[in-house]
Amino acid sequence: IGDSADWDRETKSICPFCGVGCQVSLKSKGDRIVKVDGIDGPANEGRLCVKGRFGFDYIHHPHRLTVPLIRRDDAPAKGLNVDPGNLSTHFRKATWEEALEAAAAGLRGRGREVAGFGSAKCSNEEAYLFQKFIRQGFGHNNVDHCTRLCHASSVAALLENVGSGAVTATFNEIENADVAIVIGANPVENHPVAATYFKQFAKRGGKLIVMDPRGQALKRHAAHMVQFRPGADVALLNSIMHVIADEGLTDRQYIEAMTENWEAQKAHLEGFAPEKMTGLTGIDADTVRAVARTFAGAKAAMIFWGMGVSQHIHGTDNSRCLISLALMTGQVGRPGAGLHPLRGQNNVQGASDAGLIPMFLPDYASVLSEEVREKYAGLWGDEGGHGGEIVAEKGLTVTEILGAVHDDRIKAMYILGENPAMSDPDLDHARAALAKLDHLVVQDIFLTETANYADVILPASAFAEKAGTVTNTNRQVQMGRPAVPPPGEARQDWWIVTELAKRCGLDWRYTHPRDVFAEMKQVMPSLDNITWARLEDEGAVTYPSLSPEDPGQPIVFADGFPRAGGRARFTPADVIPPDETPDAEYPMILTTGRQLEHWHTGSMTRRATVLDAVEPEANCSLHPSTLRKLGVAPGGTVRLTTRRGSVTLLARMDRAVAPDMVFLPFAYVEAAANLLTNPALDPFGKIPEFKFSAVKVEAAEPI
Ligand code: SF4
Repeated sequence: IGDSADWDRETKSICPFCGVGCQVSLKSKGDRIVKVDGIDGPANEGRLCVKGRFGFDYIHHPHRLTVPLIRRDDAPAKGLNVDPGNLSTHFRKATWEEALEAAAAGLRGRGREVAGFGSAKCSNEEAYLFQKFIRQGFGHNNVDHCTRLCHASSVAALLENVGSGAVTATFNEIENADVAIVIGANPVENHPVAATYFKQFAKRGGKLIVMDPRGQALKRHAAHMVQFRPGADVALLNSIMHVIADEGLTDRQYIEAMTENWEAQKAHLEGFAPEKMTGLTGIDADTVRAVARTFAGAKAAMIFWGMGVSQHIHGTDNSRCLISLALMTGQVGRPGAGLHPLRGQNNVQGASDAGLIPMFLPDYASVLSEEVREKYAGLWGDEGGHGGEIVAEKGLTVTEILGAVHDDRIKAMYILGENPAMSDPDLDHARAALAKLDHLVVQDIFLTETANYADVILPASAFAEKAGTVTNTNRQVQMGRPAVPPPGEARQDWWIVTELAKRCGLDWRYTHPRDVFAEMKQVMPSLDNITWARLEDEGAVTYPSLSPEDPGQPIVFADGFPRAGGRARFTPADVIPPDETPDAEYPMILTTGRQLEHWHTGSMTRRATVLDAVEPEANCSLHPSTLRKLGVAPGGTVRLTTRRGSVTLLARMDRAVAPDMVFLPFAYVEAAANLLTNPALDPFGKIPEFKFSAVKVEAAEPI
């Protein structure tokens, strides 16, 4: 991989992995990409991490789906039992016409029995088309994607209190900060190029405050490393805010001019003296005071957070606290100041903006608003299907949809580029739902675990095989370009969605993603001044862009917030314990996450030669003292068991993990983390509590 002499074509595109959105140069020869380099994009300035630089050859893997497939009448029962090297035991090859008709036949006319999962790995145009297909084709809002599993609670809190679900400042703004909090995030592993900016910030004297129950590489650069008890986020953040309020370190002018509900917040914080919270947080009062004074003393401070904050049943409360902390110190809307939930997938921001969520149409226009629905009836009304009418009812979320399959409310699904048979909590329950469906259409590039349950499989295109825009964590809309054709008969995703929509009665006439982008601009003010031609020319434009020449605003809300009255809001948060707490039978805490080399359910990175060579085996991390107690040597085998299931895998020794915790990456099907996780949901964001389950850990026989 990476012989620079062996290419004859160069195409600029966007890394397909994380939300940093690094711009890449794809070097190709014939139908193959042979090398990837970083180029000067606004988020990466030429930098790439190991995934971006070496993780691309999955697109040429022999397991790529290259022809449409239909489940054989005599196929064995649905389950994880298809050999990707010998699909013919379960599926037969079909023409596109035959497969599209079979896919449509199982969806057509089924109204509310149909649900759709779109993908944060697809483009903005594909996300827009997918949500439009479900809404217009079936007359309801049962359409969602994996934001439900990552930052839905952060978005809920941001929309509630700031009026916008996106970041208020790009991560690159850390260059103008003197203090930054990184909480519940491990950027060195999960947003590696963003982490390089964080390290540079610390090296030039910026004070980094890292807060996480698990240690991490950024600790080396931190002025304060606060390794608090899992699940104690609200207690810790409220105690930090208590100190700031108690010591008069708030920005009173900012609170007065820009916010509402401060008095209620201030009164609420009185009960959170750090001494009283130490039992919950594990952090002594002196440390809390030092952190509070450092943050409140900043000239400009940013707060970054990840799924350690969002993936709890109190994830929305955690984010409310972070927003309050920024507001009470006036740290929003200035250079070097802001709120930044580090978005996970490459296009989770764009897919959410494009309306791929059950409660909002594009640009977070509520499905409950009559005015909004009338607008869409006008725009979509003459295209057939349900006449453009959108039901005034929030749809079901990812996790609720699979529950509704068990209740016989949902009977048919269309899943594009998502892998709920690996990514959803309590996998036995999720997989049983997929097996129960009357009709499942899966559109993907590989035979994912989810495709094992499909009735029809539509072979799709990888990022390097298609045109389309994506939006990164910084609100930067960027142009992805095709470098090579899809393999065999695989097709671009926008084309497949369009053809399926036509066969479900919709009069769609798109001929290129740019047609879709033009339609999106009619309903998405966030795209004002951003055109397809501009993106082709400039590569990236940050929204909001104030004029056709403006590259976009890295910082927003200097003069007010997009809420009634223009003010941001304090929403006090109470301490809510995790849904299940350790007990005699399950005495430890399980937390799940990603590793540097692997991406989500592993469907791409485990088929990338270099990445799989570096991290080939399922593993979990335990503290040395825990391994000693178990009598397991590093590299030995352990069994993890929760109330939902059990997995057996290798144990690594890791001092970053607390003695009563186990960290389990979720990319490995042979020890799927989500067999163990708790499906309990945050009531606002409907996000599962992936970051906290009670678990039993035992020594096991080698696998
Ligand atoms: Fe790709 Fe993210 Fe790595 Fe950049 S930091 S190269 S976007 S995985």
